[in-house]
Amino acid sequence: MSFNSLGLSDALLKAVSKQGYTTPSPIQQKAIPLILERKDVLASAQTGTGKTAGFTLPMLQILSQGQQLRHRPIRALVLTPTRELAAQVYDNVKEYSAFLDIRSTVIFGGVNQRPQVATLRNGVDVLIATPGRLLDLHNQKLLSLANVEILVLDEADRMLDMGFLRDIKKIMSIMPAKRQNLLFSATFSKDIKALANDILHHPILVEATPENSTVDAIDQKVYRVAKGLKSDLLVKLISDGNWEQVLVFTRTKHGANKLTKKLISSNISAMAIHGNKSQGARTKALDGFKKGTTRVLVATDIAARGLDIPLLPHVVNYELPNISEDYVHRIGRTGRAGASGEAVSLVSADETSFLRDIEKLVGQRIPSEIIEGFEPDPNASTEPFKPGQGRQRNANPRNSNTNKPKSGNANRNRNNRNKRPNRHNDRKE
Ligand code: AMP
Repeated sequence: MSFNSLGLSDALLKAVSKQGYTTPSPIQQKAIPLILERKDVLASAQTGTGKTAGFTLPMLQILSQGQQLRHRPIRALVLTPTRELAAQVYDNVKEYSAFLDIRSTVIFGGVNQRPQVATLRNGVDVLIATPGRLLDLHNQKLLSLANVEILVLDEADRMLDMGFLRDIKKIMSIMPAKRQNLLFSATFSKDIKALANDILHHPILVEATPENSTVDAIDQKVYRVAKGLKSDLLVKLISDGNWEQVLVFTRTKHGANKLTKKLISSNISAMAIHGNKSQGARTKALDGFKKGTTRVLVATDIAARGLDIPLLPHVVNYELPNISEDYVHRIGRTGRAGASGEAVSLVSADETSFLRDIEKLVGQRIPSEIIEGFEPDPNASTEPFKPGQGRQRNANPRNSNTNKPKSGNANRNRNNRNKRPNRHNDRKE
């Protein structure tokens, strides 16, 4: 299938080909025609599936065909959970609208609102926003959502995890009831289904390739190791393997900082990215990593979610996530757009049960190895650490994330996450 058959305008096809894309991804093939038909869509898609173009391309087409008002009210709103994701969606919107008369901007918290307000004042057709800053500016009467025709909730599950439900509901109440709604989520918990029920009208359910097939393309390996030897083992793997561009996941912000220091002291350039870092520091870390000046990016799950790091050759789970689906999200960052990747997990005795859960979810046994000199501690307990202990996610949502989540019960619906959602590919109407 080619992009030409999806019903997109020449201006959009030109922008797509400028990006070098030749074939629409599965989520694009399914979602684009439905969105162009003005359907509400509930899409199961995670980062790396091409979901952003999946909603941005048809959204831009609808906007460019619709009536353009002189003062350019906001006609499409894309809500994202994090600043980084907002910035990435904005970059995509700019690229895809290069040959259209469409204006867009992005707003998020943690930075001065003045330049954002100035841009809004000139009129924008598409606004990409995180919920907190959006409501802040709305409360100050600095923006209006009265003309929104299309709403996109990107990574809706993460928005709920971060406690944005109340903000989302408030935002719904300040938009026209008649609008097209698109909800993208990597998982379908009970809460997501309830939100979808609230927001979407006769939604059509679409899904990207099943998560397992993403995982299949990735070379996965486990190194069994004593907890206290993990950082030395990581240094060895990176040095001996001459690994460049390594994304390492730690469970906590503190752990990310500590590991970064250790890598730097071993002459491996590294930066940490997590919620306690300022926006400037996060952007700097990500830029350095993308450019190749920083060899290792050490990240916590929540900071890394949604980051667009193309063609990543190495992902390391320094600690296994206690939520199996996070493993799939993490390693899904390798092997993007057909490139192959390697995902390595350093597993100590107390993570044994997490490994078992992950293997169950991905439906395969991950080959495991022990490296001489880095053997696991035979006396270590296999008792898992208590979930929530040392978890960075939502420990302090205001600091750790974009805006101002209202509740801290991040793990509330996480128990449901490993249950495979009941999805199907076709229309549900
Ligand atoms: P996303 O899932 O939207 O974060 O996109 C993941 C990556 O895939 C991004 O780097 C996109 O630029 C890229 N991408 C999106 N659509 C396509 C496509 N049809 N062909 C190749 N790459 C794509």
